[in-house]
Amino acid sequence: MNKLIAVTKSSMPSFEEYCEEIKSLWDSRWLSNRGAIHKEFERLLQERMGVDYVTLYANGHVALEVAIDAFRFPKGSEVITTPYTHCSTTHSIVRNGLVPVFCDVNDRDYTIDVEQIEKYITDKTVAIVATHVYGLLCDVDAIDRIAKKYHLKVIYDAAHAFGVKRNGVDAISFGDASMISCHATKVFHTIEGGIVAFKDKDIYDRIESLVNFGFKGPEEVQYISTNARMNEFEAAMGICNLRHIDDEIARRKIAADRYVEHLSGVTGIHLIAPQDGVTSNYAYFPVFFDGYKYNRNEVQEKLKKENILARKYFYPIVPDMKCYKETYSAKDYPVSRHAAETVLALPMFSDLSVEDVDTICKIVLDK
Ligand SMILES: *Cc1c(COP(=O)(O)O)cnc(C)c1O
Repeated sequence: MNKLIAVTKSSMPSFEEYCEEIKSLWDSRWLSNRGAIHKEFERLLQERMGVDYVTLYANGHVALEVAIDAFRFPKGSEVITTPYTHCSTTHSIVRNGLVPVFCDVNDRDYTIDVEQIEKYITDKTVAIVATHVYGLLCDVDAIDRIAKKYHLKVIYDAAHAFGVKRNGVDAISFGDASMISCHATKVFHTIEGGIVAFKDKDIYDRIESLVNFGFKGPEEVQYISTNARMNEFEAAMGICNLRHIDDEIARRKIAADRYVEHLSGVTGIHLIAPQDGVTSNYAYFPVFFDGYKYNRNEVQEKLKKENILARKYFYPIVPDMKCYKETYSAKDYPVSRHAAETVLALPMFSDLSVEDVDTICKIVLDK
């Protein structure tokens, strides 16, 4: 029996490094509510990402929910979004009293199909909420053009995109707002956490209040909101992980390149091609089994028998989830559905050795 290879494995700094970072908390007793570590982490991120406004949250989902709330769209407005994403993207639209309008993805990189967006725009449309998937980007230029033409806001679920760059520009700087998840299973994590970047100072000011129950000062509550604050222990984990992130991504690339060596050019196995000018963070290694001698479920089973865990990601597509099915599943999203039926995310994390990748590919290829 092989040793267990999980689909992901959280990166961690050394125990000593983390302890050093949290030591001051035993004196300050300032454990949450935007203390010194939180502020320092925010500053480091802003510096690294080259964006004007960065805010931190308890997790990626609540970050996206609060970010959408900050735009104050009229309730019942329509938001064009992707069916091929985490349910979090759609939930954050619906929980803001807005109506998701699904637009299928393209079959090259499985991000929203920019050729189809315009046909869904009505006089109720206020925004496009699109997801960058697997460490690659949406067609941000085309989305930007459409948004300008119709006066829409663009909000990216960039949960997968920490450290992704396009022509040297950080992925988080696209759109009017971008959310990155810092969940333990993501490329960069703070145990639980989220980051949002904004361009607009007014939105930033509102966010500062929305993240903390809607408080404006100690005695004034101006919005009905939630508690979305990141705590000091999480921020400290972020500061530590930030020191190692470039090395982590470089190690992921080595594993990804090895997968490509084994799996590219095999009939019935489809990989996503790299995007021009985009430096990926290798967040996931999705493989599409379409016309291969084994279907996706069979490959997943074969790996599982050898103690290797791969994940159907994304599956099912959001409109097919129980909570959305009645309203949306009758509609057709052929590319998204087909992707969800054929995709398998193979193990991917910075500690994954090339030997492990060899083992995984041997099983997939019957070698
Ligand atoms: C992980 C993820 C989220 C949610 O982030 P959390 O930090 O787990 O709340 C949202 N969207 C996508 C695409 C994700 O992968």
